[in-house]
Amino acid sequence: MADPASETTIKVVCRFRPLNSSELARGDKYIPKFQGDDCVHIAGKPYHFDRVFQSDTTQVQFYNAVAQKIVSDVLGGYNGTIFAYGQTSSGKTHTMEVSYFEIYLDKIKDLLDVSKVNLSVHEDKNRVPYVKGCTERFVSSPDEVMDAIDEGKNCRHVAVTNMNEHSSRSHSIFLINIKQENSQTGQKLTGKLYLVDLAGSEKVGKTGAEGTVLDEAKMINKSLSSLGNVISALAEGSSYVPYRDSKMTRILQDSLGGNCRTTMVICCSPSAYNDAETRSTLMFGQRAK
Ligand code: ADP
Ligand code: MG
Repeated sequence: MADPASETTIKVVCRFRPLNSSELARGDKYIPKFQGDDCVHIAGKPYHFDRVFQSDTTQVQFYNAVAQKIVSDVLGGYNGTIFAYGQTSSGKTHTMEVSYFEIYLDKIKDLLDVSKVNLSVHEDKNRVPYVKGCTERFVSSPDEVMDAIDEGKNCRHVAVTNMNEHSSRSHSIFLINIKQENSQTGQKLTGKLYLVDLAGSEKVGKTGAEGTVLDEAKMINKSLSSLGNVISALAEGSSYVPYRDSKMTRILQDSLGGNCRTTMVICCSPSAYNDAETRSTLMFGQRAK
């Protein structure tokens, strides 16, 4: 077996969802053409990834191929992050299954305690950044993890009137901290896994956007491009990685690159109607390769 520490730490995979009912009703063309298990063509142009998942991929198949390895490495003491990137309604939330704190307008909100609405990023004595005062819940079974997730979802719903609209304009971050102690040897093992459901990557129309909508659009573009810059610096092995450019990359610093397991899932609509967004989404993913 290969030494896990010597593997490339950043993987980029791409997943196409099926045409949805409104796309089917409109008679939209299904545009991706798949080649092998790592390449997709859009209008004749090939895009290569570590893996490409076609529209009929089940959740179990996807989990086994992408998440299982990261989860087992985190249980083995590594840190990891899984991102879902793509336009609204491309399948990000569906792919993460979990949807806690969120970053909206560069403000960090605690999704397990609605009274905490503007948390700050601090560094611990080892200079590892963390969100100060964020609620931590002790869980010891998968059911308890799911309960925490449901609670976070409810908090998110309470705070906003239009959930779909809101979730496409904020990043949600779920952190699972794993601490294990071997009862025989007393040896301790810690690992953490971040699940990041990013804000919708679609371009916001420049005309007509003002006030909050314009602030949101600027902030989302800025944080997604900071993330892109960090990921491509890591992928290139560059000596300077601009983690400090956004709150999100700062928080994730010790779970990205280096010895960490990082996977970016590029989520795409297969419809001709979303052609332009799909190409720009695929381009974003290729930057990380
Ligand atoms: P996003 O979070 O990117 O805005 P969602 O994950 O909410 O998008 O997906 C939009 C809709 O498409 C949801 O109803 C979801 O259940 C459905 N969907 C997304 N991906 C798939 C898939 N791979 N297979 C079947 N349905 C999917
Ligand atoms: Mg979503």
